[in-house]
Amino acid sequence: MFIKNRVVTIGLVLLVSQWPPLAVAGLACHKIAEVTEITPGVFVRAGHSGTIFKDGDIANIGFIVGKRCVAVIDTGGSQQEGEALKCAIKQKTSTPVCYVINTHVHPDHILGNLAFKCPDTRFIGHHNLRRAMSLLGPTYLRRASNKQGENLSPDHIVLPEEQVQQQLELDLGGRVLQLTAQPQAHTDNDLTIFDVETRTLWLADLLFSRHIPVIGGSGSLGAWLKLIEKLQKQPAARVVPGHGPASMPWPEAANDEIRYLSRLRDDTRTWLQQNGELPEALENVGYAEQEKWEQFSEFHKRNISTAYTELEWEE
Ligand SMILES: [Zn+2]
Repeated sequence: MFIKNRVVTIGLVLLVSQWPPLAVAGLACHKIAEVTEITPGVFVRAGHSGTIFKDGDIANIGFIVGKRCVAVIDTGGSQQEGEALKCAIKQKTSTPVCYVINTHVHPDHILGNLAFKCPDTRFIGHHNLRRAMSLLGPTYLRRASNKQGENLSPDHIVLPEEQVQQQLELDLGGRVLQLTAQPQAHTDNDLTIFDVETRTLWLADLLFSRHIPVIGGSGSLGAWLKLIEKLQKQPAARVVPGHGPASMPWPEAANDEIRYLSRLRDDTRTWLQQNGELPEALENVGYAEQEKWEQFSEFHKRNISTAYTELEWEE
């Protein structure tokens, strides 16, 4: 079985890698990310189903093009993924990348940063992102190194130079992006991006679709629910989730996630009221959702554990 899987993997690599590399506007491109223009000037590379250190390109990442320059939103889970996105950008526009915005700390969103590091590009994130990346970066590098079979240098953790305290507006030239540092939810460093021109709201991992929502180590179930319900009232023509389709209609896109998180909260509360212990909770809470999500077996128990710990002492 192992050998069979190896053969399939090698086949896929040959299919997606370009050799010799294609020259795209002066860049040597081994791979060009497949992007969708979800609305004029907003491009998304949809991630595929899987988990980061096993399956690679799983997060939705992309870029927004202004008259003066381009803002990249998340760079993927490896330098190669970042390079492929950079090649896709070069293919679509000749304007330079002036900003890399990281929506939060998770490795599938930040480990491609190095591909974009240059003097004219500023890295931007939530005011808690710098600390979170410094703290978790070494672990991410170790795990990514194990997967790639090479030792990744600390250079792969490119920290934000500019920190968003509450809100920040970026002008890409005739196109304004509004960045908002959100309160604790999926993590404690979630940043959203609103493209004023097309009313596109880039929610990243505040919204999961198909892939089970995952409460990050610094996140909070109760606070995430509160925030996503509040964000549903924000008028937007479409949203970009962190995992799932490249674009979804708003506010209905959040309904499945709200149902899952609510059930997790309510079932955990009921369990606690009946003095149920955590080991049994892990086998019983929220399993009505099992068939509705991908990666359920990887993440649901972790979510129960987080919910249990969070709700155990609530008034
Ligand atoms: Zn995440």
